[in-house]
Amino acid sequence: MRTSQARRLAAQEGSIRWRCPCCAAALYKANGDWHCQADVTHRFPCVDGVPVLLNPARSVFRADDFTPQARTTFKNPAAWALWLGRVLPSPSRDLGTERSLRALADALRLRPAGARRVLVIGCGDGTAGYGALEAVDGVELLETDVSLAGPAAVVCDASDLPFADGQWDLVIAVAVLEHVLEPQRCVDEMHRVLRADGLVYATTPFMQQVHMGEYDFTRFTRSGHRWLFRHFEELDSGIATGPASVLIWSIEYFLLSWTTSVGVRRVIKGLTRLLLGWATWLDVPLAPRPAACDAAGGFYFMGRRAEVAVVSAREMIRYYRGSDAKK
Ligand SMILES: [Zn+2]
Repeated sequence: MRTSQARRLAAQEGSIRWRCPCCAAALYKANGDWHCQADVTHRFPCVDGVPVLLNPARSVFRADDFTPQARTTFKNPAAWALWLGRVLPSPSRDLGTERSLRALADALRLRPAGARRVLVIGCGDGTAGYGALEAVDGVELLETDVSLAGPAAVVCDASDLPFADGQWDLVIAVAVLEHVLEPQRCVDEMHRVLRADGLVYATTPFMQQVHMGEYDFTRFTRSGHRWLFRHFEELDSGIATGPASVLIWSIEYFLLSWTTSVGVRRVIKGLTRLLLGWATWLDVPLAPRPAACDAAGGFYFMGRRAEVAVVSAREMIRYYRGSDAKK
């Protein structure tokens, strides 16, 4: 049961201004479901207390996908798989998120009480955690996803966020934008729901093989990622996953290319981690090297919302920081 999610949502529900993901009118709750004030055909079910607020005209998901047992983007791994995941070295190393979350937590502490509202888009299975943010006094953190398998308190699609304009202080989207059909629209939605000086933090892959199967659509260079967030002043950006992780993934996926057998693929994944996982340490000294930007697994971007674009198309040429960057 999802009582903890329902309880956490109930604590925040009244202070959030909701809007219909289909037509932007206000939402209200009646008889357990959520309804649109403008159109009676816009009805949204609750599954185990979690509202499913989707626009079927744009989302790849439908409300019917979200029965309590259904698998969408991911499922909860079995206990043995969780144990193996903890015991074996990871094939990749995250270089940006932990430090960035600490910086964002400090930024939230500078805001007045009541202005520490954090929206997590794509919280996944919850194992990533947001510890540094959760430690901020008075923080209100709402986790959302397009799966019921994790800790999401609301099911919604980033292309039509069910929130009225200008009410979040920080929006987080870690490893999300590769999984949406229209990344620019999703970033524009993040921009819309943020307060005037709200903050954004996103990490998105560049050189990473297909993961999450049918729900993987797009990749970005560092420059392409910056352009997505051109209506944000850049506070920090850089390599989130380094070239050593890319190398290990490449070896793993080269071997996986030979077979669709679930058992053999598990052995390959286990052996790759066991034999090569140590090499992700090489990403630590590589991360500050400009040439590593051309070979990175992904990038992070931290920014502050601006009213207008703060980089022009022409300025994007100077933004490049890789091996060929002009001195
Ligand atoms: Zn509506």
